[in-house]
Amino acid sequence: MNMTRHSDLIRYARDSIEASTHQNDMHPFSFYNCEVCNKSRPFELVIRYDTEESILPIQSLVGHIQGRCGVCGKTTLLLSNTEDDDTERSIRPTCACGNNQFVVGMCERIQGEKGIPGLFEKRVIVAKCSKCKNIQTIAYTE
Ligand SMILES: [Zn+2]
Ligand SMILES: [Zn+2]
Repeated sequence: MNMTRHSDLIRYARDSIEASTHQNDMHPFSFYNCEVCNKSRPFELVIRYDTEESILPIQSLVGHIQGRCGVCGKTTLLLSNTEDDDTERSIRPTCACGNNQFVVGMCERIQGEKGIPGLFEKRVIVAKCSKCKNIQTIAYTE
């Protein structure tokens, strides 16, 4: 239902994952929802991971992304691709405008063979500032 409202975010995500140079593949986009509100909300993000990277976007995230809902205050685990819970590093993304709440979505590349969904290849997580609407890439996962 936010599909048209955040079409800039969807376009940005598709560009980030180079959808136009992988035209045979599928690139579904989805928003991350607060699991309590059950809809897309502005989130305060915490990214926990173990690689040496210290700036966004994280190129090959192995870790967890948590989002604290700006409306109900509950935290949802948006993404987790490791069993490891004692990840050492963390980043709390802030927009250049100073705001730290973002509408968050992700776009996947799924190898398509004549329209039949195949292997998951790559994912990008993108975030749009709830105040100034600036968009940044948070991370890629493989
Ligand atoms: Zn909520
Ligand atoms: Zn901003």
